[in-house]
Amino acid sequence: MKKPKIVILGAGYGGLMVATRLQKQVGVNEAEIVLVNKNDYHYETTWLHEASAGTLHHDRVRYDVKNVIDRNKIEFVQGTAVEIKTEEKKVILEEGEVTYDYLVVSLGAEPETFGIKGLDVHAFSIINVNAARQIREHIEYQFATYNTEEEKKDERLTIVVGGAGFTGIEFLGELANRVPELCKEYDVDYSKVKIICVEAAPTVLPGFDPELVNYAVSHLEKKGVQFLIGTAIKECNEDGITVGKGDEEVEHIKAGTVVWAAGVRGNSIIENSGIEAMRGRVKVQPDLRVPGHEDLFIIGDCSLIINEEINRPYPPTAQIAMQQGEVCARNIVALIRNKGELETFTPDIKGTVCSLGEDDAIGVAFGKKLVGSKASFMKKMIDNRALFMIGGPGLVLKKGKFNIF
Ligand code: FAD
Ligand code: NAD
Repeated sequence: MKKPKIVILGAGYGGLMVATRLQKQVGVNEAEIVLVNKNDYHYETTWLHEASAGTLHHDRVRYDVKNVIDRNKIEFVQGTAVEIKTEEKKVILEEGEVTYDYLVVSLGAEPETFGIKGLDVHAFSIINVNAARQIREHIEYQFATYNTEEEKKDERLTIVVGGAGFTGIEFLGELANRVPELCKEYDVDYSKVKIICVEAAPTVLPGFDPELVNYAVSHLEKKGVQFLIGTAIKECNEDGITVGKGDEEVEHIKAGTVVWAAGVRGNSIIENSGIEAMRGRVKVQPDLRVPGHEDLFIIGDCSLIINEEINRPYPPTAQIAMQQGEVCARNIVALIRNKGELETFTPDIKGTVCSLGEDDAIGVAFGKKLVGSKASFMKKMIDNRALFMIGGPGLVLKKGKFNIF
């Protein structure tokens, strides 16, 4: 009998969890498994703010996919998915096509610019390794040319970060540590640098514990970050941004660097494939399949699940993507073995920790509030745990964060 073919799109947190769980649970004769990813490496999306600021080398945030998959059981295809043809049960890649019996889509997020003019052209987003590298190099170039080029000198050292959600705050934490190093390296007076964070909501980290938010704001302000709260970015052009409160446009801020960290959406492939979605996120069934598609699982940032307690979607996180990956793998095994009912996915949120640079953080873990070095220690443990879950102790030793004390 022909073996069922399982195709996994994306080797991020969700996709690699599915792949590494399936390779343990499924026999070679039971199924054919194919993993498709744009690059031959996986990157830790949750560390990209560090690579973007230049506090961690980009090679530290990525590793070869082949290091964590069993090549006797999984075929790895380096390819870029373009469209999913659900009727024909195949995925169109830039490089060809791949057919499937069961498909897992774990293609991650894209920046959501809400149609704000100019952001897609003039702002950077912390979205993958190459984008992170570009941000780091762009900022460094501004410092390198400050003393050698007169044109646009004033705004060269102004860095705007759009959004004070977790990505914006974690990036600011790294940037605040990196800027003094850049000043020293390029003979720049620190007082000439402006780091401005623009947040549309009435507070930084909307919805997070106010005491922890105050800690984060005062930590970052002490390091020179200015916050414009209750202020939205309305437009971005090559000179900087226009900001406003409500419908009013109040100010144009000249800036050499604009980093848009004000939200994400699911991968556009979902909508381009005619799958019903809200901002690229598909409201999946409790078993993680797409309604009306028995053979299609969507997990991670492309999926949407509702927190029934507050009747709002869970924010897309690596924590959830990894937990979904485990359930998705078990459900696929149940399907190929005709084992009856599928498992229901329920997130088990253990907490949230937001770093404020290498040695400081805020967070809630197992119901307890943490700040400073304890929170920072917890954050590194979370980072190491993600490596452990996918690649075991060997990957932790190779890529883990041990600069703890
Ligand atoms: P990803 O892990 O992003 O993986 C997607 C994969 O798909 C990538 O390998 C990509 O190369 C590949 N891909 C994309 N398009 C294609 C294509 N067309 N064809 C083939 N392959 C493709 N969450 C937390 O829980 N804790 C944190 O501390 C945290 N920190 C974060 C910090 C930052 C700076 C950012 C940006 C996010 C952070 N998040 C955090 C959110 C978390 O990173 C995401 O929720 C998580 O990565 C989602 O996992 P995923 O598997 O859906 O996608
Ligand atoms: P987010 O949606 O969580 O935050 C975006 C912020 O941008 C919001 O505060 C919003 O009010 C603001 N904003 C929106 N439009 C704006 C505008 N026009 N001008 C100014 N501000 C504007 O997005 P994110 O921070 O990119 O996070 C994405 C996901 O990744 C979230 O689910 C988050 O929980 C997760 N994440 C988690 C961690 C962590 O756990 N440490 C770190 C980073 C990201």
